[in-house]
Amino acid sequence: MSEPLYRVRMDGWTLESRQEPLVRVGIVLPEDGAVSVRMDASEADYHVVPTSDAEGSGYAARSLILRVDGERITLVVDGKTADTARRWRVTPPVAERAHPPLITLHDVVAGRGFHWEKRITQVVPGAFVASTRDGRILLVNEIPIEDYLKGVITAEMGGECPMDLLKAQCVTARTWLLARTERKHEAQGFDFCNDDCCQRYQGFTHLTPAGHEAVESTRGEVMIHRSGILIDANYSKCCGGVVEGPEPVWGVHKPGQYVVADAPPDSYARRFVPLQPGQLDEYLTGDWLKTCDVFCSPNVVSPADFAKYLGAVDEAGSYFRWTVEYPRARLEEILRTKFFERTGITGREALAELLDLVVTRRGHSGRATALHVVYHDPEQRRRTATIEDQYWIRHALHEKFLFSSAFKVAAERDQADRLQTIRLIGAGWGHGAGLCQIGALGMALQGYDYATILHHYFEQMDIRRAY
Ligand SMILES: [Zn+2]
Ligand SMILES: [Zn+2]
Repeated sequence: MSEPLYRVRMDGWTLESRQEPLVRVGIVLPEDGAVSVRMDASEADYHVVPTSDAEGSGYAARSLILRVDGERITLVVDGKTADTARRWRVTPPVAERAHPPLITLHDVVAGRGFHWEKRITQVVPGAFVASTRDGRILLVNEIPIEDYLKGVITAEMGGECPMDLLKAQCVTARTWLLARTERKHEAQGFDFCNDDCCQRYQGFTHLTPAGHEAVESTRGEVMIHRSGILIDANYSKCCGGVVEGPEPVWGVHKPGQYVVADAPPDSYARRFVPLQPGQLDEYLTGDWLKTCDVFCSPNVVSPADFAKYLGAVDEAGSYFRWTVEYPRARLEEILRTKFFERTGITGREALAELLDLVVTRRGHSGRATALHVVYHDPEQRRRTATIEDQYWIRHALHEKFLFSSAFKVAAERDQADRLQTIRLIGAGWGHGAGLCQIGALGMALQGYDYATILHHYFEQMDIRRAY
């Protein structure tokens, strides 16, 4: 049994040893502007040692402050200055795996860079390394990945979720974390930040018994493709009826992801896989929707229950089918700031009057991947600009972000044939590839277990324990 289960490297770790990896999460970042952090342990002393100066045997502390002092950090234990060093390592007392010691961190930034940014108190497991960058604190939390998942899962999901949804979400998130190819923070010396830039993580502050059980009962379980590699297991909020393939979204093949109707095997929805151009109207607005058995449809999961199951949803409403309507002038304003000016199409080429929007390429779920914006420039010349990629199409057509790019365009024109109103009639929320979160919720509510849910969204794979 010395043959490795799979080979994958993530941010410098090798996951061949069947050991649970440690994750390094940036908790206090230099851009937060903090010059000190306060930490209080309630039950037993933490061990605090200077990591770079290699001197002294360290300090036992239950209540400590780390304060920037030039290039160094001063350690204050129980109100008394103890020492200074370039870096400090704060290690928890030894405990049972299921009940890691927790330390309270004060004034940690949440919602970094958003209008609702605030400072909150968090309780966090694991060890910490404090260092300085440009006179500010960088505090990194080193924790086993299973404890990290407990924090992430409970930040994403509501407390009343069916257990099999939590388990399916948990195995998907674990597999995605381990397979992950993005390395946003490598240069800063950690793997993930604690906010929406990566995944929201506030330690065990919001951990529920259900979140704990979902992680523990699937400990180490990951999805491995039959070719032997770990699946890059993406997920999104609502596919809309057909799960999108990875190629239209990221331009790459991802083994294990595939195009499938988000419905039982004998469903009417199967005829839309892959969605053909002539089927778009029926798919988006046809009568079949009234009684459809699509797992993410309102017939299976009532939108009134989203808050109960999915925690704080960003906006109320239906994501399965939606309509966004603009007077022409409003859409022109959005397109100018979010596409034309951003991409430098200005001056003689600028948008003066919008003439039409034409989708020229779609993925397998109807998601637009290329869009022609037909318009008059300031000298009344007809021009066409192309927006490529579902992400940039969604970015360009909404003041925030359009739910998805699976839409058709309905235009109303006046007698002179000038655009008056543009309606986007669409399906789904998110890129739609991989696991559909609302669909997985629908399956769990109908009694499917988590393994069946995962095999529905990912093909040719086995669920195996990596450690
Ligand atoms: Zn990040
Ligand atoms: Zn779905």
